[in-house]
Amino acid sequence: MASQRTATVVIGAGHAGLAMSRCLSERAIDHVLLERGEVANSWRTERWDSLRLLTPNWQSRLPGYGYQGNDPDGYRTVPDVVDFIARYAREIDAPVRTGTTVASVRAECDGYRVATDRGDWRCRTVVLATGACNVPDVPAVAEAVPAGVMTLTPMRYRNPGQLPEGGVLVVGASATGIQLADEIHRSGRPVTLAVGEHIRVPRTYRGRDISWWMDATGVFDERYDQVEDIERARRVPSLQLAGSSGRRTLDLNALTAAGVRLAGRLAGISDGKAQFSGSLRNMCALSDLKMGRLLDSFDAWATERGLDGALGGPARPAPTAVPDSPPLMASLTDRTIRTILWATGFRPDYSWLEVPVLDRKGRLRHDGGVVAAPGMYALGLQFLRRRKSALIDGAGDDARDLSAHLDGYLAGSLAEAGA
Ligand SMILES: Cc1cc2nc3c(=O)[nH]c(=O)nc-3n(C[C@H](O)[C@H](O)[C@H](O)COP(=O)(O)OP(=O)(O)OC[C@H]3O[C@@H](n4cnc5c(N)ncnc54)[C@H](O)[C@@H]3O)c2cc1C
Repeated sequence: MASQRTATVVIGAGHAGLAMSRCLSERAIDHVLLERGEVANSWRTERWDSLRLLTPNWQSRLPGYGYQGNDPDGYRTVPDVVDFIARYAREIDAPVRTGTTVASVRAECDGYRVATDRGDWRCRTVVLATGACNVPDVPAVAEAVPAGVMTLTPMRYRNPGQLPEGGVLVVGASATGIQLADEIHRSGRPVTLAVGEHIRVPRTYRGRDISWWMDATGVFDERYDQVEDIERARRVPSLQLAGSSGRRTLDLNALTAAGVRLAGRLAGISDGKAQFSGSLRNMCALSDLKMGRLLDSFDAWATERGLDGALGGPARPAPTAVPDSPPLMASLTDRTIRTILWATGFRPDYSWLEVPVLDRKGRLRHDGGVVAAPGMYALGLQFLRRRKSALIDGAGDDARDLSAHLDGYLAGSLAEAGA
């Protein structure tokens, strides 16, 4: 099959690829989006049933597009997110080729060859918008789980009905872990939650959503070249947050009150036993301390701007209540724990990328989304250019910056080629 040509191939038609498409169109850059499923495929196929965005409706802003309903402070369900993104694709008339899986990207003398199951594309520039959460990041100890215990990742989890009756060990207490621990516990299955490093924040503070604070004070806009240790900042776990109609705070205290048993970080599995680290108290104290500092900075910001009168009082969440002697061990063979759910994070998959741009840990080498290969860009990764980069709200600013860079690159490479 003869290859087709375009200036830019965008791989992935989630919100990030679409935001880039809109910016490329504004610059009259010829492009195509290649998508293995439908638009918003990750939301259609990889999320659990009860999930709601943890960012409020007003905070899903894309270039030329935003929330238009009458519930700006609500949190979208998954079908709502799919509708929102699919409508954007139609409104911007994005040139999406759905059902087209990219099998490889290779460098050629004048750009890239993108091979798909529906023929090849040749282009000068490529945008990797394939998402930050393609593969669950399951720790190596998973291999030691005894037969007879069901293991599951959040990508395969849909609802508690999939799980056998009996106890569940949820590993990881960031956004996914706390939400699933809560839901599974409510289904009548006793839950133990293994808690490692986590970022605690209240859902609301002084009458405003925490997202309002992070947005207004500029925390979400903090740039990748302004933080001290960007590698570390890119690995920080997600905020311990959930979106619900009652805007409730779902933290470890709420889970403990509901009857979830807290344990330390899962340190290992041997002889059919899960071993938990003794660090639970320290982990929680550290999270409380960091939350206190963040809220202090919000208070100072509000005072500086004379907003104290307009906001509620600075009531602080109670310190995390840690059991006197959290479990250090749990049997995985006595049938009290029937399921382990790995809420231990996700990572991107670049197995199809045949350009030497990955470091020895398999992470993409890039400078704020400008990948270490000429004419290659990335979008949607953790703290790519800003703290909000992996959120829906972060794609617009990043796409604007990177499309400007890409435009300059195309102009330069055309001039070089004497075109
Ligand atoms: C559980 C969960 C909850 C989240 N909650 C929020 C939230 O509340 N608020 C918020 O702002 N963000 C949230 N996010 C983060 C973020 O918005 C999503 O991860 C979002 O899906 C990322 O958008 P994206 O466009 O970067 O990637 P994706 O939506 O993952 O889109 C990438 C696209 O690339 C396609 N693709 C991948 N590989 C190939 C290939 N080889 N060939 C062709 N196509 C390919 C995929 O099918 C997919 O459609 C959440 C993420 C997760 C995992």
